[in-house]
Amino acid sequence: MKKLFPKNKKLKYPNLSSVQLNFLTYLSWNDVGTNKKYIVYSRNGQMVGIECKYFLLNKESLCSFCHRHGQVAFITTITKARKLNNPDYYKAIGNYVCFDSSTCNQHMTSVEVLESFLEKSLKES
Ligand SMILES: [Zn+2]
Repeated sequence: MKKLFPKNKKLKYPNLSSVQLNFLTYLSWNDVGTNKKYIVYSRNGQMVGIECKYFLLNKESLCSFCHRHGQVAFITTITKARKLNNPDYYKAIGNYVCFDSSTCNQHMTSVEVLESFLEKSLKES
């Protein structure tokens, strides 16, 4: 787990016993102290992880991962993609997803959106 987030030394680990591993498509947990949401997913047999900032919405909305209507958070993450002429440029991408990822996991029927979101945020060029 530490290898997935090498830059984050203050990473708080999830309480895995509270997660229903049987239902897992992706693993995610929230750090309410820092408003961070972590997403870990096994992509082509390789574990990938991203760190997102989240903002809770005060109304219910549609989750883009499981397409369910409920309590969602707007998550943003910085992609590693840079513009060639500006090495300091980092692009942020965002998505609306369930705040409660265990409910989300149970209702996911397709990993398409989750995979493309991870793809975009991990892409290096
Ligand atoms: Zn969801």
